[in-house]
Amino acid sequence: MEPPAGPFRHSSGYGEHYAVWMTNPPSTDYSRAGTGLRIGVLALQGDFREHLRAAEATGATAIGIRRPSELDGIDGLIIPGGESTTIDKLARAFELADPLRKLIADGLPVYGSCAGMILLADEIADPATDLAGNPQQTFGGLDITVRRNAFGRQRESFETDLEFKGLGFSDTGSGVAPVHAVFIRGPWVERVGDVVEVLAQVEPADPEHASHAAALQGTARIVAVRSGQLLATSFHPEVTGEKRVHELFIRMIRGEA
Ligand code: GLN
Repeated sequence: MEPPAGPFRHSSGYGEHYAVWMTNPPSTDYSRAGTGLRIGVLALQGDFREHLRAAEATGATAIGIRRPSELDGIDGLIIPGGESTTIDKLARAFELADPLRKLIADGLPVYGSCAGMILLADEIADPATDLAGNPQQTFGGLDITVRRNAFGRQRESFETDLEFKGLGFSDTGSGVAPVHAVFIRGPWVERVGDVVEVLAQVEPADPEHASHAAALQGTARIVAVRSGQLLATSFHPEVTGEKRVHELFIRMIRGEA
């Protein structure tokens, strides 16, 4: 099946980032970190191809997941960016939603970017409703509340550099470089449960995204979290040359992070 086009195809700057993929120097051992692992990428809609490529670049075997049997034997799963309502509907239609909920509850490591973060959230502050008035559903597992499209309409997509906890393995001796983050109509996290670790926040004072100062209302917004074997970011490391978020996920699977 050829999935419907996601919002990414039309976003500004995407091609530019795509072009730099693989041109940034990898961090130590990056290309071997995932060797021997099977990483599933939910391939119903959105930018799953970029995540397949990012997973393969770690040395892992990457598998596009469209049916329940393809979940057998995976060591971890990536839920891509895209449109969370569409991924939710297709996952239910393809009978993937219930097996996924069970695997997440049983401890499968999962990384969700953007729409993937929404699909991992236990709660959506502003869920979309279908024609019958039923709210969109999530797979859940992460004790967070997300707000969709949270950074406002004025300039829905933006880029900024973030301090990101847990990337100590990429310390070059002069510190850990910030993560260049691309936001494309991304969510932010409004509430985190006790066991959820905040990995990155967008600071309203950062002049690089001054256009979002109004939306941020003087408060830093959480854009990356981890809870046990679940990792989620509001942004898209898969569309830049940034490889360390995928490497962190691989290290989580290996029990090294
Ligand atoms: N706004 C989208 C949603 O609600 C997410 C956008 C993205 O994944 N870049 O699902």
